[in-house]
Amino acid sequence: MRAEPNPPGSTVQRGLSADYLRALPKAEVHCHLEGCVPPKTAVRLAARHGVTLPAGARDGGDRYRFRNFDEGLEIYLAVCRSIQTAEDFEAVTYESLMTAAEGGLRYREIAFNPQNHPELSYDTMMGGILAGARAAEEEAGVVSRIVVAINRQFGGEAALNLVRDVLAHPHDEVVAIGLDGDEKAARPSEFVAAYDLARAAGLKLTAHAGEHGDSTEMVECLDLLRVDRIDHGYAALLDPALLARTVRSQIPYSACWFIDYPELEVEGRRLDVAAMAAAGLNMCLNSDDPALIGPELHDDFIDAAAHLEWTVEDAEKYALAGIDASFADNATVERLRAEFTAELERLRPGAYSADIQ
Ligand SMILES: [Zn+2]
Repeated sequence: MRAEPNPPGSTVQRGLSADYLRALPKAEVHCHLEGCVPPKTAVRLAARHGVTLPAGARDGGDRYRFRNFDEGLEIYLAVCRSIQTAEDFEAVTYESLMTAAEGGLRYREIAFNPQNHPELSYDTMMGGILAGARAAEEEAGVVSRIVVAINRQFGGEAALNLVRDVLAHPHDEVVAIGLDGDEKAARPSEFVAAYDLARAAGLKLTAHAGEHGDSTEMVECLDLLRVDRIDHGYAALLDPALLARTVRSQIPYSACWFIDYPELEVEGRRLDVAAMAAAGLNMCLNSDDPALIGPELHDDFIDAAAHLEWTVEDAEKYALAGIDASFADNATVERLRAEFTAELERLRPGAYSADIQ
């Protein structure tokens, strides 16, 4: 974690107000369902189902405690094991969306890995998730779509079976296939058949790459998986050809503001959202795992605005960037863009004061 969200004395006090940034309508396309489950909910579900959570999930109060990616992944997988019924999926989906809606979230693409729940059928899990998402939309107006994510560690054959399962149980809200998990576990090239099948069926395609791995991962995602979007992608900053290519194509990057990996510091240069923005990449801000890594998206906006000294135009640009990167159908995108534009105009007069209604 680079800094506490909106720390006292932050430059945001002299720039855009935190109230304005919280009220700003927001859209994100990179957020993992189980990474939204707060510790108290994980502890309750684990107790109900007799699952033992790692100490870092039990003893940290409002936060999970872990020292590195592997420990964080261990907690994430234990949280996955604690979600065992359609009702559990409905409850965690609903809770996560309602929490984020308090910070201005209006649209989220939820990444969900069915392979991390091998004991449950795809349809059971998706039924619960969609019920929770529809309830949150009805109650708080936050729209959701689902990215079914392939976990790299299970390999290409399992990925192909997963895509077959997705296609056998179609839902309008399921808009894309993603790829996540440990970037060291398998190359993107192992998943070509799964991506080809998904593309042929009309699904959109995204993949995590260049978060821990190098830029060759990202080139494989572009050339072999033919992705429509890249999740993270910081390694592009070390590859001039890839950087120029993706600045030119303006393929969306779903980047995350709060990241703290040693490999992102190369030759004294930090590879992060600030550097991506300066390079001219098309990127939006995303919370990734707000409960596991934290914080919620509105805190990302508040901290980014302070550190990058955003103007109101910058804030509005990032508010709309998540919609432009989304895989929702055209009618939904147009509706959200119109709603956001009207709301941004309404909020503009209060951008530099705390007087937001
Ligand atoms: Zn992610």
